[in-house]
Amino acid sequence: MFKRQTTGSVICTSCGTLVGVNDAVCYSCNRRNPGLWGYAPAFRRLGQDLGFVPLVMGGTIVLYVLSLLVDVAGMRPILAPSSMAIRLLGASGSYPVFVEGRWWTVLTAGWLHGGLLHIVLNMLWIRQLAPAVAELYGPGRMVIVYTLAGVVGFTFTSVAGRYIGFLPLIGGAQLSLGASAPIFGLLGALVYYGNRTGSRHVREAGLQYALMMGIFGLIMPGIDNQAHLGGFVGGYVAGLLLDPLKPERIDHLVGGAACLVVTLVAVVASFVTALPLLLN
Ligand SMILES: [Zn+2]
Repeated sequence: MFKRQTTGSVICTSCGTLVGVNDAVCYSCNRRNPGLWGYAPAFRRLGQDLGFVPLVMGGTIVLYVLSLLVDVAGMRPILAPSSMAIRLLGASGSYPVFVEGRWWTVLTAGWLHGGLLHIVLNMLWIRQLAPAVAELYGPGRMVIVYTLAGVVGFTFTSVAGRYIGFLPLIGGAQLSLGASAPIFGLLGALVYYGNRTGSRHVREAGLQYALMMGIFGLIMPGIDNQAHLGGFVGGYVAGLLLDPLKPERIDHLVGGAACLVVTLVAVVASFVTALPLLLN
């Protein structure tokens, strides 16, 4: 799959003009190493053929299964991982971030779920929204939006949990997890797309879903509204920074892949650093 092209021409990762695969500099935009050592075509396939959407869903399911297997004895109904298991794999919130200093859990919490219903509902939302965002922004930027929204969402809830934790509904959480923060990010990116391009249809679809899920969160107990709010803000700002009116570049695919790699590193870091905390 990850084959290197050594001869011929490729598309510059920055500006999209044809360059020799071994050219040191793009003659059109002056980018250095425009062919990414010959890996540029492989990145293009990664986004288009293999698809980032199944990668996000597959990764989330794998981590959920891992969270069950890592502490089978502590599992609760219905297929809910123990609190030890979710802390091991990187649940976020004011406790892990401020008390334990494990700030990178803002990257990992969006990939973890508290039970079967939780993950099934979120997977349905991702299946609905991620292909739409990938269509409008490109698959690489979809993953960047997803990752940034998770980071902002779990930062919001951790900070709120630390400083305004006494407030009802918006007091953040000591321990938080779930893909709904990045899902709100996908909605934020859709709303930004609608604003930027004047597509009322996309804007209203995004706003309606966000409103519906937001109100659901305010009514249901135990929902982390700060993570939702932060996720929406993060996705909207990510959309603004990435500008959907410009075509997706291979740089974005590389950025999306980098987001996934950094997240994986954060999961490993969570596991390694939580082990001694939990054994004490
Ligand atoms: Zn170029």
